[in-house]
Amino acid sequence: MVTDYDLLIIGAGIHGAACAQAASAKGYKVLVLEQFEKPGLVTSSKSSKLIHGGLRYLESGQFKLVRECLEERHYLLKNAPALVKLVPFHIPVYKNTFRSALIIRIGLIIYSLFSRKSFSSVPKRKWKDLDGLNTKNLKTVFKYYDAQTDDQKLTAAVMSSAEKLGAVLHTNTTFDKADCTNDVCTVDFTQNKTLKSITTKLIINTAGPWVNPVLKKIHPQPEALDIELVLGTHIIINGQLTRGIYYLEAPQDQRAVFAMPWKNKIMIGTTETLYNDTPEKVTSPEADINYLLDVYNTYFSQKKSISDIEESFSGLRILPKATGSAFSRPRDTIIHHDITKTPRVFTLYGGKLTAHRATAEQLMKTIQPFIPAATRDIDTRKIKLTD
Ligand SMILES: Cc1cc2nc3c(=O)[nH]c(=O)nc-3n(C[C@H](O)[C@H](O)[C@H](O)COP(=O)(O)OP(=O)(O)OC[C@H]3O[C@@H](n4cnc5c(N)ncnc54)[C@H](O)[C@@H]3O)c2cc1C
Repeated sequence: MVTDYDLLIIGAGIHGAACAQAASAKGYKVLVLEQFEKPGLVTSSKSSKLIHGGLRYLESGQFKLVRECLEERHYLLKNAPALVKLVPFHIPVYKNTFRSALIIRIGLIIYSLFSRKSFSSVPKRKWKDLDGLNTKNLKTVFKYYDAQTDDQKLTAAVMSSAEKLGAVLHTNTTFDKADCTNDVCTVDFTQNKTLKSITTKLIINTAGPWVNPVLKKIHPQPEALDIELVLGTHIIINGQLTRGIYYLEAPQDQRAVFAMPWKNKIMIGTTETLYNDTPEKVTSPEADINYLLDVYNTYFSQKKSISDIEESFSGLRILPKATGSAFSRPRDTIIHHDITKTPRVFTLYGGKLTAHRATAEQLMKTIQPFIPAATRDIDTRKIKLTD
């Protein structure tokens, strides 16, 4: 059947942009709808801005995720040198640190095997150069390398590369509803207050925290996964960190918190607080802000207070509903496809900024049986991204 588009993608966050890039690289006709004025203004600009395997995920046995993310870090360092840069990370270990130096060393050995980049210990005589890090009861400071990016700019760069490959992006455009048969979906959307309608072979739902509300607008309505939204807050305070990123253990609950240099200021994050309201209403809770200040003040001699905060921002993680703390839950991406009710709709839950390209390629494989064969094969591992 002839349709206006092969793929209609809802949302231009990092996942929508990456799916548009991967599909256009295969020669598919792609339309992306984004409700805001530019790509990446929601979760994809509220992350910790790390392109990393995630050392802490080794603790919960997520080896596959860590390995895949480190592989993707390698491609991004090569293809987007202006956007993704290696930064030294420091892990201070004190007498009362919950994770022992031995456990952290084992984690770093595994991490360095996956990343092919070694780690070291900062000699004691150099501890005084570590941005005022408390040295009382300090036993060891590990140093390794991971990468940092500007998440919104990275998303815009991936979207722009998709557009160069032929994808069409409509910003200020809201997906309203879709009616799907076994062969085709008719999609209605509002672009700058004008109602429009197109046909597409498939719908890709990458609406971030709105994934499930979007499914409710599709007929027949696909089964939605049971998820929880988990709020992550960052604060930006005045001051500078000249030696790189500090990987800190929160004294309150032993979670990992980063203190990072960010545009000549210090960014501290993140928290993980269950969130029960609509995504539109996200704000940074006072308790989360105080938690982050407390972590910083535990580790650095120059104490900071509320008046030192220049900005705070929060984003929502999507995690499968489960018991136990959000911190230790799996971070894998889920591609959901309700084949019996709505075979033309694919939904992406969760995921990592770092793994966006691999996630999009995985989605391409999943949709293959439902779409005509690709007409070209440009390797997304080799596409350059510019600022
Ligand atoms: C606090 C926090 C810290 C994180 N830190 C890191 C990190 O350091 N490194 C890392 O690798 N990952 C990190 N992540 C994960 C990563 O940021 C997310 O997985 C990723 O940004 C999600 O992107 P997305 O495209 O799925 O969603 P989003 O970026 O939220 O994009 C969804 C888009 O859909 C649009 N949309 C929704 N509904 C409609 C509609 N009806 N019509 C049109 N458009 C619509 C929205 O406007 C939005 O632009 C973090 C996540 C959080 C929450």
